[in-house]
Amino acid sequence: MKPLLPNATIGMLGGGQLGRMFTMAARAMGYRVHVYTSKPNSPTAQVADFQTVAEFDDIDAIEKFARSVDVVTYEFENVPAAAVQMLEQTVPTHPSSKVLFTAQHRLREKTFLSENGFPVARFFAVSTIEDLEKGLQHTGTPAILKTAGFGYDGKGQAQVHDLESANAAWENLDKTEAVLEEKVLFDSEVSLVASRNAAGDFAHFGLIQNDHRNHILHLSQAPANAPDELHQQAAEMVRELCEALEVVGVICVEFFRRGDELLINEIAPRPHNSGHLTIEACQTSQFEQQLRAVCGLPPGPTDFLRPAAMVNLLGDLWQNGEPDWTKVLSQSGRHLHLYGKDDAKPGRKMGHITVLDETAELAKVKAENAFAQLSRTK
Ligand code: AMP
Repeated sequence: MKPLLPNATIGMLGGGQLGRMFTMAARAMGYRVHVYTSKPNSPTAQVADFQTVAEFDDIDAIEKFARSVDVVTYEFENVPAAAVQMLEQTVPTHPSSKVLFTAQHRLREKTFLSENGFPVARFFAVSTIEDLEKGLQHTGTPAILKTAGFGYDGKGQAQVHDLESANAAWENLDKTEAVLEEKVLFDSEVSLVASRNAAGDFAHFGLIQNDHRNHILHLSQAPANAPDELHQQAAEMVRELCEALEVVGVICVEFFRRGDELLINEIAPRPHNSGHLTIEACQTSQFEQQLRAVCGLPPGPTDFLRPAAMVNLLGDLWQNGEPDWTKVLSQSGRHLHLYGKDDAKPGRKMGHITVLDETAELAKVKAENAFAQLSRTK
């Protein structure tokens, strides 16, 4: 494939912050971006060249969009695979519907991973009440019951301790298809963001260490505090995964780390919140890497310029009105990103701050300080 060069138009499915940061990277390099989203005034549309506001099942809108762009990529995995299949018939679309189909459904994802020899926590497919009982015998307790489809940031999941609480959790999930998973007593959570182009060129940013609060990412630091061999082991695993799924684009794999053992928790076939720190910390950001991969260009260098930490700014910080940004901006070295969302609901990702320092630990302390300053009530 001939690479797509600046002036080409990239189609972006989804209008959130990941699309916004991708668009900023793409436009900086002279590409145009056409966003397809169901909501007006989306974070991506605010910075894109063109937008289509339509539902993903609007066949006419999808077809028109397909004809207006040179390549399509996406920024969230809850795009119906059928829409991506339709796009694929007209325009190169990366990652493919096959990748999306696997990654957007926990059960398909876990089945694919275990059948292909990738390490995952013990799990059991649940579609009847009888499955719950069998499942608990397989996973042991405590376990976690998760909806099979369309879940993220801990939504659609509950911890269960016995058959009674498992039944209650299943009722709560409307008895939809679910996955019961062993609760992993991990030492830490880490992720690896990587990219692969159609020629198979692979690049990665090494392991990033993640702290979650209420199942939502709070802080990421990189490089993760882990021996080189573990960074390499994770990268090799993700490279094999990308080959097996024929990924073209960016992928993030989230792991549970137990000592020197890594278990895959989740795959996201797109840039990831834990990779935001690559914007300032690395030679090439995860967003430029997505652009390069889907345009058929070689990956950029992924070296860290400095260690870094990133803290998420959730809507909770807006509970008393707009946070006092002077508190953050009066100190140098704090990179503030806001996503242009006007409705600051609790738990909603509104922005983030990245700090670079001599070590990831020092950067973490500074990022937490910035967060604490914003959290104090005015
Ligand atoms: P998920 O939406 O599946 O990525 O889950 C969000 C967060 O919930 C993870 O990052 C973990 O902190 C926690 N979690 C999910 N599944 C498990 C598990 N099987 N064992 C322990 N913690 C889990």
